[in-house]
Amino acid sequence: MFVTRFAPSPTGYLHRGHAFSALTAHGAARAVDGRFLLRIEDIDATRCRPAFEAAIHEDLAWLGLSWETPVRRQSEHLDDYHGALAALEARGLLYRCFRTRREVADEIARAPHGAMEVFRGRPLPPGEEARRLAANEPFAWRLSLDAAERALGGFQDLTFVEEGAGEPRVVQARPELGGDVVLARKDVGVAYHLAVVFDDALQGITHVIRGADLAEATHVQRLLQALLGLPTPTYRHHRLLTGPDGRRFAKRDRAQTLRELRAAGMTPADLRREMGFD
Ligand code: GLU
Repeated sequence: MFVTRFAPSPTGYLHRGHAFSALTAHGAARAVDGRFLLRIEDIDATRCRPAFEAAIHEDLAWLGLSWETPVRRQSEHLDDYHGALAALEARGLLYRCFRTRREVADEIARAPHGAMEVFRGRPLPPGEEARRLAANEPFAWRLSLDAAERALGGFQDLTFVEEGAGEPRVVQARPELGGDVVLARKDVGVAYHLAVVFDDALQGITHVIRGADLAEATHVQRLLQALLGLPTPTYRHHRLLTGPDGRRFAKRDRAQTLRELRAAGMTPADLRREMGFD
């Protein structure tokens, strides 16, 4: 059974780009009598707002979409993600990183030309780590690519099927392109990559249909699936919708939110037609 999802984060109002993504996923499910789920990715309490979440339901319903209930809200399942994080930690796949964003950027910049384009680090010596922990210094948990590579005996078996552009093709995942990603922060207990991989597996997602802006994320997500023993869905990264200026729609384009379009008198039929649906 084909199962796909639309998984917005309620950090702003949905815009044309979201509508395109949701209609693409919904249409793909409908075409094969599959299932379409809505998932609210609200783990980042510093950025998510209840009003945006309510608006997601309202705007998608206005577009004419329907989805299964209950809707999974990630903020209600933090224990699940912490469990997965703890399992990785217990296997020595994570390390604490006390660096600020700035320090990470400086470290990359200081490395000999091209030697470090993304961050890769290692645990601090135990004494130093204990001292910083005792001083209550904030830290993030990072996934150690070195440890992951040792655990899996290399990344050569990490592949996924990409159907987003024409014929399906097998892609070799290259998690090293993203460096040692942060899987948990002090202020946000667990990061997007871990929660999304966990939920896609839990909800039996067979096809992840999302924008090409997330294509890169698939590489580390494929690695997490392998480390956590989770299945790998098929991916369809669709093209990003661009505005008249050639730039892709983003939350910053306030006038392009679905609510604004609605207020300006646009109908769902107009929007679907404009985007090439039905
Ligand atoms: N929550 C993510 C976002 O709003 C999308 C996650 C996904 O589709 O994998 O960008």
